[in-house]
Amino acid sequence: MKERIYLDYAATTPVDPRVVESMLPFFNGTFGNPSSVHWFGQQAEAALERARETVAGALGAQPEEIVFTSCGTESDNLAIRGMAFTQREKTGAHRIITTPLEHHAVLHTVEQLVELNGFSMELLPVDQYGRVDPEDLRHALRGDVALVSIMFANNEIGTVNPLAEIGELCHQRGVPLHSDAVQAAAHLPMNVVRDQIDLLAIGAHKFYGPKGVGALAVRKGVKLHPSQTGGGQENGRRAGTQNIPYIVGLAEALKLTVADMEIRHERYSIKRKRLIAGVLENVPGSRLTGHPTDRLPNHASFAFEGLDGNHLLTLLDAAGFACSSGSACKVGDPKPSAVLEALGLSQAWTLGSLRVTLGESTTDEQVESFINVLPGLVRKVRGTA
Ligand SMILES: *Cc1c(COP(=O)(O)O)cnc(C)c1O
Repeated sequence: MKERIYLDYAATTPVDPRVVESMLPFFNGTFGNPSSVHWFGQQAEAALERARETVAGALGAQPEEIVFTSCGTESDNLAIRGMAFTQREKTGAHRIITTPLEHHAVLHTVEQLVELNGFSMELLPVDQYGRVDPEDLRHALRGDVALVSIMFANNEIGTVNPLAEIGELCHQRGVPLHSDAVQAAAHLPMNVVRDQIDLLAIGAHKFYGPKGVGALAVRKGVKLHPSQTGGGQENGRRAGTQNIPYIVGLAEALKLTVADMEIRHERYSIKRKRLIAGVLENVPGSRLTGHPTDRLPNHASFAFEGLDGNHLLTLLDAAGFACSSGSACKVGDPKPSAVLEALGLSQAWTLGSLRVTLGESTTDEQVESFINVLPGLVRKVRGTA
C-alpha cells in the first residue's frame, strides 16, 4: 500500500492517545449523571468541574464562565444567537457587525437572524491578507450595535486578527464581542481578559481532542438566551446532560496543547517555511494567500492561476496527499472561494485555492515529497483544463 500523507490538520486532527486514555474511565466506570444527588453523580460532577477549571485556566477565564457544548459550531451559535436576543431586549440594538471571512458557523447564524428575526448584518472590509482594520471597526461601532463577531484566526487562509485592539474598541463602546477561536486555540495563547473578549468559542477536534465537543467562554455578567432549553445544566446556559468523557477529553487536549504550544510552534514554522518556499519556487502562477507572517504556524495556503482547485485535490489524493481547498464544510462545489474573493483576488485565481496544514506527525520528508509531486500535478490540471 502506498503511503498516505495527511496534510489537513485544520480540518481535523487525530485524538492524542493521552487524551483517549483520560476519557476511558468515564464511559462505564465513572458513568454517573453529574446532576444526580448520589455518589455516582458526585463523581461525575467532580470530573466535570475539574475539566471546567482546566479549560478556564487555558483561556484566562474563571471556571463558572465556561459552558460546554457539542462542538465549535454550537459554541458560535449559542454565542451569537444568545447574545443577539439578549442585547436587543436590553438596548433595542439589532445591528450585528462581522466579517466576510467568518466560518459558516458564524455567517449562516447571522444570516438566519437577519432573515427570520429582524436583525441586520454589517460586513467589515478586510485587507489583502484578510485582516480587519481596527479603524474600520471604530467607524462601524457608531450607533446601536447588538454584537460584534470577529474570528481570531481564519481556517482557510490562516490569517490572525488583531483581537486585543478589537476587544479594546468594543469594550470602550460597551458592545459585546464574540470571537470564533476554533482554529486559533490550537496554536495561540488565549486569554479572554487580555483581549477583552466576552464570548470565545473553541472545539476540541482541532487540537487533538475528540470530535463532537466544544466550549464557550462567557465573561461574567454577560447574559445569554439559551438556544437549547430544558434542564438547568451549565448554569442554565445549555440544557442537556453533559457528555462527561468528551468534556474530560477536551480539557486534557487543551491542557496538552497549551503545554506544547511553543515547541510545536517552532517545529511547524521551520517546515512551513520550507513548504511555502518550495511551492512558490516550483509552481509558476502561484501565490501565498493570507498574511505572510501573522498567520497560524502550521498553516500554508495558496492560489494557483487558471486552475480548478477541486481537480487538483483529487489528483493530490490519488497521489496519496490529503489536502483541502479551504473549508471542509464545503463539499464538492466548484464555486470560487468566497474568502479569496473577499481578499480581492480576480476570477483567474479564486477557483484555484489549496490549503496545506501541518500537524504533530508531519515530517520533513513528507514536506519534501509534497513539494516534489505538486508541480507535475498542477501542470496536469492546467493541461486538461
Ligand atoms: C472547524 C471550525 C468551526 C466548526 O467547529 P466544529 O467543532 O467542527 O463544529 C468553526 N469555526 C472555525 C474557524 C473552524 O475552523
